[in-house]
Amino acid sequence: MALARCLIEKCRKKVYRKDLPPTSVIITFHNEARSTLLRTIVSVLNRSPEHLIKEIILVDDFSDHPEDGLELAKINKVRVIRNEKREGLVRSRVRGADAAIAEVLTFLDSHCECNEDWLEPLLERVAEDETRVVCPVIDVISMDTFQYIGASADLRGGFDWNLVFKWEYLSLEERAERHKDPTTSIETPMIAGGLFVINKKYFEKLGKYDMKMDVWGGENLEISFRVWQCGGSLEIIPCSRVGHVFRKRHPYTFPGGSGNVFAKNTRRAAEVWMDDYKQYYYAAVPLAKNIPFGNIDDRIELRTRLHCKPFKWYLENVYPQLAVPEMTNVGTIQQGIYCLDTLGHLIDGSVGVYQCHSTGGNQEWTITKKGQIKHHDLCLTLVSFAKGSVVMMRVCDDNENQRWELREGGILKHSKSNVCLDTRYVQEHGITAELCNSGLDTQYWRFVTKHS
Ligand code: UDP
Ligand code: MN
Repeated sequence: MALARCLIEKCRKKVYRKDLPPTSVIITFHNEARSTLLRTIVSVLNRSPEHLIKEIILVDDFSDHPEDGLELAKINKVRVIRNEKREGLVRSRVRGADAAIAEVLTFLDSHCECNEDWLEPLLERVAEDETRVVCPVIDVISMDTFQYIGASADLRGGFDWNLVFKWEYLSLEERAERHKDPTTSIETPMIAGGLFVINKKYFEKLGKYDMKMDVWGGENLEISFRVWQCGGSLEIIPCSRVGHVFRKRHPYTFPGGSGNVFAKNTRRAAEVWMDDYKQYYYAAVPLAKNIPFGNIDDRIELRTRLHCKPFKWYLENVYPQLAVPEMTNVGTIQQGIYCLDTLGHLIDGSVGVYQCHSTGGNQEWTITKKGQIKHHDLCLTLVSFAKGSVVMMRVCDDNENQRWELREGGILKHSKSNVCLDTRYVQEHGITAELCNSGLDTQYWRFVTKHS
C-alpha cells in the first residue's frame, strides 16, 4: 500500500514534454451498452488535455442499433464509422486506424474509464521512441456495480503454453528494484490487447494486424510476438491508468463458435511466429490441431520482409520466465507403410502397427530426451527382460524399463539390454522385444517427426 501511495505521489509530480503529439482514439464496439460507451468517450474528453485529442473514431462493428453510434457522433471530435457486416475487432480496429488523421493511435475498448493524466505518460514514451508500444495499467471497473477499483501496478502480461493471456506478478527482485523509482516503465512480453498506444506509421510498417483473424482473441498474442520479434518493445506505464470492465463471458454472438474462432486466431499467431515452439502449444491444446487456420502466406512474407527474429530469441530475451518443456520429438514410428499404433489400447495394453494414416491420433509418439517412447502419459515399457517379452503401455515414470535408443540401422533398442522392438509376432501378441539384429526388416523403424 505504501508503495502504491508513493507511486501516485511520484506520478503527480511528473512533468511531461510540452510538444507531445496529438492522438486519434479508436474505439470499436459491437452491441456495447450506451452508458458504458458514453462513459468511455466522456472520460477521454474530460481527462485529456484538449489539444492532444485529435479525434475519437468509433467503429460500430455492425451493432443491432445503428442509432447508438449516430447519437454519439453529435459529440465534438467524435466520428463514427459503421461496418456493413460484422467484421470482428481486428478488421474493425484496422478500419479505424486507416481513417485516423493523427500521428499516434490510441486503441481503447468500448467499456473503459480513462483516469486523470492517463494520456501524457503514454504519448511521451511513444514520442521519444516510435518503436515503443505502450499500455496503461488496467484498473478494474466492477462488472456488477461499475465501481472503479485500482489494480496492482506490479503486474505484466504473460501466458502459458496454452497461449491464453494472463497477468503475472513481477518477481521479488524486480519489485525491490522498482522501489527506487516505481514510475519507470515495465517491459511486458504480452499486452492484454484492447488498450494501447502506437505510432501510426509504425503500426503500418509492422503490418497492422492479421486481417484474417475473426471476432475476438489471439490478436494480442500476434501483435505482441510481432512487435518484440521485429525490433520494437511493449511497455506498461505505471503512471497511466485506465479502468476496464472485465467480463466473465462475451456479451455478444460469436459467429463460428468462440472456441473455434479463438483456436483459429491463436493458431495463425503460433504458425507464423513461434517456429518449432508451436509444438508445445499443440501439446497443451491438442484439439487446436483440428481447427483450420486458413492461409498465412502474407504474414510469413511480412515476417521475412521485416527480418524479424526467431521465437527462440523472444523466449530467451523477452520472456525467460516461461519454462520451455523438455525438447521432445513428436512424430510417427514407421515400418514401411505401417506405423506403430496404440490400436486404441489403454494402460497395460500392448501396441501394434496399422497402416500409416498421417492424422496423428493413435500413431503419434514422442521420443523424449530420456529415451521414452511416449503416447500422452503412457510409455512403451519392457515388462520383462527376456526376449519375446511383450511391450506394454504403462504410465511414464523414470524407470529404466522405459528407455529406448533409436540406433543407426533403424533399430529401437532397449537401453540396458540387447532386445529391440520387433513386429514378427505382431498378429498374435502385438509388438514384442526380440534379440537385436539390425538386418531384420521386422526390427527396422523410421521416426518421422511432424515438424521436419
Ligand atoms: N468487439 C468488436 N467486434 C467484435 C467483438 C468485439 O468490435 O466482433 C469490440 C468490443 O465491443 C470491445 C473490444 O472489441 O470494445 C474488445 O472486446 P471485448 O471487450 O469483448 O474483449 P475483452 O476485453 O473481454 O477481452
Ligand atoms: Mn473489453
